Amino acid sequence: MKMMDRAIDGYKNIVAGKYIGIFGNPIKHTLSPIIHDTISMSMNIDEKYIPFHIEDNLGEYVKLAYEEGILGLNITVPYKQDVMPYLVDIDKAAKEIGAVNTLVRVEGGYKGYNTDMPGLARAISSEGISLEGATVVMLGAGGAARAVAYMCLKYNASKVYIINRTVEKAKNIADELNGFFGVDKISALGIDEYDKVMDKESEYIIIQCTSIGLKKDDGLPLVSNDDFYKKASAGVDLIYNPAKTPFIKCLENYGIKAFNGLKMLLYQGVMAYELWNEVVVPEEIVDKVYYELEKKLYGEEAKGNNIVLVGYMGSGKTSVGKRIANEFGYKFIDTDEYIVKKENMTINEIFKTKGEEYFRNLETSVIKELIETTSNSVFSTGGGMPLRRENAMLLKKLGNVYFLRTSADNIYSRVKDSKDRPLLLCDDPKQRIIDMLEERTPKYAYAADYIIDTDGKNINEIMTIIGGIAHEEGAGE
Ligand code: NAP
Repeated sequence: MKMMDRAIDGYKNIVAGKYIGIFGNPIKHTLSPIIHDTISMSMNIDEKYIPFHIEDNLGEYVKLAYEEGILGLNITVPYKQDVMPYLVDIDKAAKEIGAVNTLVRVEGGYKGYNTDMPGLARAISSEGISLEGATVVMLGAGGAARAVAYMCLKYNASKVYIINRTVEKAKNIADELNGFFGVDKISALGIDEYDKVMDKESEYIIIQCTSIGLKKDDGLPLVSNDDFYKKASAGVDLIYNPAKTPFIKCLENYGIKAFNGLKMLLYQGVMAYELWNEVVVPEEIVDKVYYELEKKLYGEEAKGNNIVLVGYMGSGKTSVGKRIANEFGYKFIDTDEYIVKKENMTINEIFKTKGEEYFRNLETSVIKELIETTSNSVFSTGGGMPLRRENAMLLKKLGNVYFLRTSADNIYSRVKDSKDRPLLLCDDPKQRIIDMLEERTPKYAYAADYIIDTDGKNINEIMTIIGGIAHEEGAGE
């Protein structure tokens, strides 16, 4: 018996310095290799992730994996509980949740961890949502819901309601976790009791833990009264495919922040990787993994056919952008002008009256809006827009991003006589440009899909390069 006999097709002949992997059934469609192989590649770690199809003899395969030197494993459906007797140790939180999704190699065997729960907690906090003191309404009481309820208590939610079709399952979770934490915070409700939450609570975070929304013709989960969703302050759906379930669409319709389960999947993987390799995965690499996951899952949905130009002032974003728009029959949008129109104020006035933080938030919400509303457009972006990491990732969703890289000398000669560049109103504008380019160039490069060196090229030449790439990518068809 060899572990590689259980590797799924396409993985049997992989050779690497070290191996990590996943046990499950079914396992063919797992996205985990994207997470772990992207991290290994980005961090120059000679390690490969192998999905193993395990039908029976789970204990023997855990032993064999250890004997063959496998560094770590993920465990997925249906083995998250079944694997527990075959481990030499289990982390306290995983024991309390009652499920293990990560095995870490230790002396004599594997130790079990649960990274689903902290993965979701990290996903929620990365969206700026805090559970501390919050009321949470959970829809569903299956396997995943247990870890979610545990997370709510662990992160000090003040009250948790679990609504489920089979109310006994919600009661079991409530009784067990209330007892375990020595609190009386979790209440179990049947579907027709949702109005009790609405009567008592002015707002709540909804965490959608049922499997309703996976199928194309699914409707809202458990509660069909829109007023129930309108009272949410934020929403999370554990489902990530499709990207927008009826639950997410409903909250977004009311302007309520909602996100899907892809970040939970991402962070449970990142945290497993960190445990196996005793490293911290840098945020830039986490972003990259997320982008790869989105691309694989949602394909073209994740990237519009727009052309996005980023770079420092005077790098030619506007003149090149207008020229491309003309040539392609695309619409030209200057994001600064878009904001000015939207706010009915100049950028300077916005900075003066509302502050930089307000303007940067505005930029982020404008990109989100443009992702939803535009296609066949060329964007000239404000010089500061891609500097925020969140914006850099969002711009990649808006379209293909091109960094027009230009030397300080050329920028200076183009803008030196301009009167409307407040940034350059200083004693030594050229040095200012040099300093700012030094700081910004890596950030523009990070945001970009393609870097175009513009020095020595005229507008036509730059347009031809971008046009060639865009054509290959299928834009303009
Ligand atoms: P599960 O144990 O099978 O539980 C399913 C839940 O959905 C139960 O509460 C069940 O209610 C409810 N449900 C299913 N069909 C229903 C229907 N027609 N009407 C009413 N209720 C229905 O599944 P799970 O493992 O907890 O997973 C739940 C969801 O979370 C899945 O969609 C899964 O894809 C997602 N998930 C995501 C991640 C991630 O990384 N993002 C991780 C784990 C799970 P009853 O109890 O009444 O049957």
